[in-house]
Amino acid sequence: MNILFMGPPGAGKGTQAERIVEQFNVPHISTGDAFRLAMKQGTPLGQKAKEFVDQGLLVPDEITNGIVRERLLLADCEKGFLLDGFPRTLQQAEALDAMLAEMGRGIDHVVNLHVDRGLLLARLTGRRICKSCGATYHVMFNPPKVEGICDKDGGELYQRSDDTEEKVGTRLDEYISKTAPLLEYYSGKGLLREVNGEQEIDQVTADIAGRLRGSNE
Ligand code: ADP
Ligand code: ADP
Repeated sequence: MNILFMGPPGAGKGTQAERIVEQFNVPHISTGDAFRLAMKQGTPLGQKAKEFVDQGLLVPDEITNGIVRERLLLADCEKGFLLDGFPRTLQQAEALDAMLAEMGRGIDHVVNLHVDRGLLLARLTGRRICKSCGATYHVMFNPPKVEGICDKDGGELYQRSDDTEEKVGTRLDEYISKTAPLLEYYSGKGLLREVNGEQEIDQVTADIAGRLRGSNE
Protein backbone atom coordinates (compact mmCIF):
# COMPACT_ATOMS: atom_id res chain seq x y z
CA MET A 1 0.00 0.00 0.00
CA ASN A 2 1.32 3.46 -0.95
CA ILE A 3 0.34 6.04 1.66
CA LEU A 4 0.98 9.77 2.21
CA PHE A 5 0.55 11.52 5.57
CA MET A 6 -0.30 15.20 5.49
CA GLY A 7 -1.08 17.74 8.17
CA PRO A 8 0.50 20.81 9.75
CA PRO A 9 3.64 20.58 11.90
CA GLY A 10 2.61 18.95 15.18
CA ALA A 11 -0.51 17.23 13.78
CA GLY A 12 0.83 13.81 14.82
CA LYS A 13 2.19 12.50 11.50
CA GLY A 14 5.38 11.03 12.97
CA THR A 15 3.62 9.57 16.01
CA GLN A 16 0.99 7.88 13.86
CA ALA A 17 3.47 6.79 11.19
CA GLU A 18 5.50 4.85 13.80
CA ARG A 19 2.35 2.86 14.62
CA ILE A 20 0.84 2.47 11.15
CA VAL A 21 4.04 1.09 9.57
CA GLU A 22 3.99 -1.72 12.14
CA GLN A 23 0.41 -2.67 11.24
CA PHE A 24 0.82 -2.32 7.47
CA ASN A 25 4.44 -3.51 7.21
CA VAL A 26 5.71 -0.75 4.90
CA PRO A 27 8.79 1.47 5.39
CA HIS A 28 8.37 4.90 7.03
CA ILE A 29 9.94 7.64 4.91
CA SER A 30 10.17 11.02 6.64
CA THR A 31 11.88 13.85 4.76
CA GLY A 32 12.25 15.74 8.05
CA ASP A 33 14.09 12.76 9.62
CA ALA A 34 16.27 12.43 6.50
CA PHE A 35 17.28 16.10 6.72
CA ARG A 36 17.98 15.90 10.47
CA LEU A 37 20.17 12.82 9.97
CA ALA A 38 22.13 14.49 7.14
CA MET A 39 22.54 17.62 9.28
CA LYS A 40 23.82 15.59 12.23
CA GLN A 41 26.30 13.80 9.99
CA GLY A 42 27.34 17.09 8.36
CA THR A 43 27.01 15.73 4.80
CA PRO A 44 26.76 18.17 1.84
CA LEU A 45 22.99 17.53 1.79
CA GLY A 46 22.83 18.31 5.51
CA GLN A 47 24.77 21.55 5.08
CA LYS A 48 22.44 22.71 2.31
CA ALA A 49 19.29 21.72 4.22
CA LYS A 50 20.43 23.31 7.49
CA GLU A 51 20.07 26.92 6.38
CA PHE A 52 16.38 26.31 5.59
CA VAL A 53 15.44 23.89 8.38
CA ASP A 54 17.01 26.15 11.03
CA GLN A 55 14.84 29.04 9.89
CA GLY A 56 11.65 26.98 9.77
CA LEU A 57 11.51 27.32 5.97
CA LEU A 58 10.90 24.55 3.45
CA VAL A 59 14.00 23.09 1.82
CA PRO A 60 13.97 23.79 -1.96
CA ASP A 61 12.04 21.29 -4.07
CA GLU A 62 14.97 20.04 -6.19
CA ILE A 63 16.89 18.94 -3.08
CA THR A 64 13.86 17.36 -1.43
CA ASN A 65 12.61 15.58 -4.55
CA GLY A 66 16.07 14.06 -5.07
CA ILE A 67 16.20 12.37 -1.68
CA VAL A 68 12.69 10.98 -2.04
CA ARG A 69 13.42 9.60 -5.49
CA GLU A 70 16.54 7.78 -4.23
CA ARG A 71 14.65 6.37 -1.26
CA LEU A 72 11.67 5.12 -3.29
CA LEU A 73 14.01 3.17 -5.54
CA LEU A 74 15.31 1.03 -2.65
CA ALA A 75 14.07 -2.54 -2.61
CA ASP A 76 12.05 -2.29 0.62
CA CYS A 77 9.62 0.14 -1.09
CA GLU A 78 8.47 -2.56 -3.48
CA LYS A 79 5.84 -3.67 -0.96
CA GLY A 80 4.65 -0.06 -0.48
CA PHE A 81 5.64 2.96 1.61
CA LEU A 82 4.41 5.58 4.01
CA LEU A 83 5.64 9.05 3.06
CA ASP A 84 5.48 11.38 6.09
CA GLY A 85 5.87 15.10 5.40
CA PHE A 86 6.29 14.80 1.63
CA PRO A 87 5.02 16.30 -0.63
CA ARG A 88 4.74 19.77 0.89
CA THR A 89 4.42 21.86 -2.29
CA LEU A 90 2.47 21.46 -5.50
CA GLN A 91 5.75 21.09 -7.39
CA GLN A 92 6.75 18.20 -5.07
CA ALA A 93 3.33 16.55 -5.58
CA GLU A 94 3.74 16.73 -9.35
CA ALA A 95 7.30 15.41 -9.12
CA LEU A 96 6.06 12.51 -6.97
CA ASP A 97 3.34 11.68 -9.49
CA ALA A 98 5.99 11.59 -12.23
CA MET A 99 8.36 9.37 -10.16
CA LEU A 100 5.57 6.92 -9.37
CA ALA A 101 4.34 6.86 -12.97
CA GLU A 102 7.87 5.94 -14.08
CA MET A 103 7.82 3.08 -11.57
CA GLY A 104 4.37 2.01 -12.76
CA ARG A 105 2.81 2.80 -9.38
CA GLY A 106 0.37 5.22 -7.81
CA ILE A 107 -0.82 6.61 -4.48
CA ASP A 108 -3.55 4.64 -2.68
CA HIS A 109 -4.41 6.96 0.22
CA VAL A 110 -3.58 10.50 1.37
CA VAL A 111 -4.34 10.77 5.09
CA ASN A 112 -4.85 14.33 6.33
CA LEU A 113 -4.56 14.76 10.09
CA HIS A 114 -6.65 17.75 11.00
CA VAL A 115 -5.63 19.69 14.15
CA ASP A 116 -6.58 23.31 14.90
CA ARG A 117 -3.73 25.81 14.87
CA GLY A 118 -4.33 26.72 18.54
CA LEU A 119 -3.29 23.23 19.69
CA LEU A 120 -0.18 22.95 17.53
CA LEU A 121 2.03 25.35 19.47
CA ALA A 122 1.59 23.38 22.71
CA ARG A 123 2.22 20.11 20.88
CA LEU A 124 5.40 21.34 19.21
CA THR A 125 7.02 23.16 22.12
CA GLY A 126 6.44 20.10 24.38
CA ARG A 127 7.73 17.58 21.82
CA ARG A 128 10.75 15.45 22.81
CA ILE A 129 12.55 12.92 20.60
CA CYS A 130 14.83 9.98 21.35
CA LYS A 131 18.41 10.62 20.20
CA SER A 132 18.98 7.00 19.30
CA CYS A 133 15.70 5.66 17.84
CA GLY A 134 13.76 8.83 16.96
CA ALA A 135 10.63 7.86 18.96
CA THR A 136 8.45 10.90 19.72
CA TYR A 137 7.09 11.92 23.13
CA HIS A 138 5.36 14.93 24.65
CA VAL A 139 6.16 16.27 28.11
CA MET A 140 2.44 16.43 29.01
CA PHE A 141 0.38 14.60 26.37
CA ASN A 142 2.57 11.53 25.87
CA PRO A 143 5.31 11.48 28.53
CA PRO A 144 7.92 8.72 28.82
CA LYS A 145 7.84 6.55 31.98
CA VAL A 146 11.07 8.18 33.20
CA GLU A 147 11.53 11.88 32.41
CA GLY A 148 14.05 12.50 29.64
CA ILE A 149 14.56 8.79 28.82
CA CYS A 150 13.09 6.78 25.92
CA ASP A 151 10.78 3.90 26.99
CA LYS A 152 11.87 1.80 24.02
CA ASP A 153 15.67 1.83 24.23
CA GLY A 154 16.68 4.02 27.17
CA GLY A 155 18.02 6.71 24.79
CA GLU A 156 18.26 10.34 25.89
CA LEU A 157 15.40 12.61 24.79
CA TYR A 158 16.10 15.97 23.15
CA GLN A 159 14.14 18.95 21.90
CA ARG A 160 14.37 19.88 18.21
CA SER A 161 15.97 23.30 17.66
CA ASP A 162 13.08 24.28 15.35
CA ASP A 163 10.44 23.48 18.01
CA THR A 164 10.66 26.96 19.56
CA GLU A 165 7.73 29.38 19.61
CA GLU A 166 9.41 31.66 17.07
CA LYS A 167 10.25 28.93 14.51
CA VAL A 168 6.86 27.28 14.92
CA GLY A 169 5.19 30.50 13.69
CA THR A 170 7.26 30.46 10.49
CA ARG A 171 6.65 26.74 9.96
CA LEU A 172 2.89 27.13 10.30
CA ASP A 173 2.93 30.04 7.83
CA GLU A 174 4.89 27.88 5.37
CA TYR A 175 2.32 25.12 5.82
CA ILE A 176 -0.63 27.43 5.17
CA SER A 177 0.82 29.10 2.10
CA LYS A 178 2.58 26.17 0.41
CA THR A 179 1.25 22.84 1.74
CA ALA A 180 -2.44 23.34 2.56
CA PRO A 181 -3.31 23.89 -1.14
CA LEU A 182 -2.31 20.27 -1.76
CA LEU A 183 -5.41 19.07 0.06
CA GLU A 184 -7.49 20.24 -2.86
CA TYR A 185 -5.10 18.58 -5.32
CA TYR A 186 -5.58 15.19 -3.65
CA SER A 187 -9.27 15.55 -2.92
CA GLY A 188 -9.76 16.25 -6.66
CA LYS A 189 -8.15 12.88 -7.32
CA GLY A 190 -10.43 11.14 -4.80
CA LEU A 191 -7.49 10.13 -2.59
CA LEU A 192 -7.99 12.32 0.49
CA ARG A 193 -8.92 10.62 3.80
CA GLU A 194 -9.68 13.19 6.51
CA VAL A 195 -8.93 12.10 10.09
CA ASN A 196 -9.54 14.08 13.29
CA GLY A 197 -6.05 14.39 14.77
CA GLU A 198 -7.26 16.07 17.97
CA GLN A 199 -8.41 12.79 19.50
CA GLU A 200 -6.39 10.52 21.82
CA ILE A 201 -3.37 8.98 20.08
CA ASP A 202 -4.87 5.44 20.09
CA GLN A 203 -8.16 6.66 18.63
CA VAL A 204 -6.37 8.51 15.83
CA THR A 205 -4.44 5.31 15.00
CA ALA A 206 -7.67 3.31 14.92
CA ASP A 207 -9.35 5.86 12.64
CA ILE A 208 -6.40 5.92 10.23
CA ALA A 209 -6.18 2.13 10.10
CA GLY A 210 -9.94 2.00 9.44
CA ARG A 211 -9.66 4.45 6.56
CA LEU A 212 -6.71 2.55 5.06
CA ARG A 213 -8.64 -0.71 5.26
CA GLY A 214 -11.58 1.00 3.60
CA SER A 215 -13.98 0.84 6.55
CA ASN A 216 -15.30 3.64 8.77
CA GLU A 217 -14.52 1.99 12.11
P1 ADP B 1 7.08 18.38 11.37
O1 ADP B 1 7.20 17.02 12.01
O2 ADP B 1 7.02 19.45 12.40
O3 ADP B 1 5.95 18.46 10.38
P2 ADP B 1 9.37 17.66 9.76
O4 ADP B 1 10.23 16.89 10.67
O5 ADP B 1 8.53 16.88 8.81
O6 ADP B 1 8.44 18.64 10.60
O7 ADP B 1 10.23 18.71 8.93
C1 ADP B 1 11.19 19.52 9.58
C2 ADP B 1 11.78 20.50 8.57
O8 ADP B 1 12.40 19.77 7.50
C3 ADP B 1 10.76 21.41 7.87
O9 ADP B 1 10.48 22.58 8.64
C4 ADP B 1 11.52 21.75 6.57
O10 ADP B 1 12.55 22.70 6.80
C5 ADP B 1 12.19 20.41 6.24
N1 ADP B 1 11.31 19.55 5.41
C6 ADP B 1 10.77 18.36 5.75
N2 ADP B 1 10.04 17.85 4.74
C7 ADP B 1 10.11 18.75 3.72
C8 ADP B 1 9.57 18.82 2.41
N3 ADP B 1 8.76 17.85 1.92
N4 ADP B 1 9.88 19.91 1.65
C9 ADP B 1 10.69 20.88 2.09
N5 ADP B 1 11.23 20.89 3.33
C10 ADP B 1 10.94 19.84 4.14
P1 ADP C 1 4.23 15.82 13.30
O1 ADP C 1 5.11 14.67 12.86
O2 ADP C 1 2.96 15.93 12.52
O3 ADP C 1 4.96 17.12 13.36
P2 ADP C 1 4.35 14.53 15.93
O4 ADP C 1 3.87 13.15 15.69
O5 ADP C 1 5.80 14.72 16.13
O6 ADP C 1 3.76 15.52 14.79
O7 ADP C 1 3.54 15.10 17.20
C1 ADP C 1 3.80 16.41 17.72
C2 ADP C 1 3.73 16.36 19.24
O8 ADP C 1 2.38 16.13 19.67
C3 ADP C 1 4.57 15.25 19.87
O9 ADP C 1 5.13 15.72 21.08
C4 ADP C 1 3.55 14.12 20.13
O10 ADP C 1 3.91 13.31 21.25
C5 ADP C 1 2.27 14.91 20.41
N1 ADP C 1 1.06 14.22 19.90
C6 ADP C 1 0.94 13.50 18.75
N2 ADP C 1 -0.33 13.05 18.61
C7 ADP C 1 -1.03 13.50 19.69
C8 ADP C 1 -2.39 13.36 20.11
N3 ADP C 1 -3.28 12.68 19.39
N4 ADP C 1 -2.74 13.95 21.27
C9 ADP C 1 -1.83 14.66 22.01
N5 ADP C 1 -0.54 14.82 21.66
C10 ADP C 1 -0.14 14.25 20.51
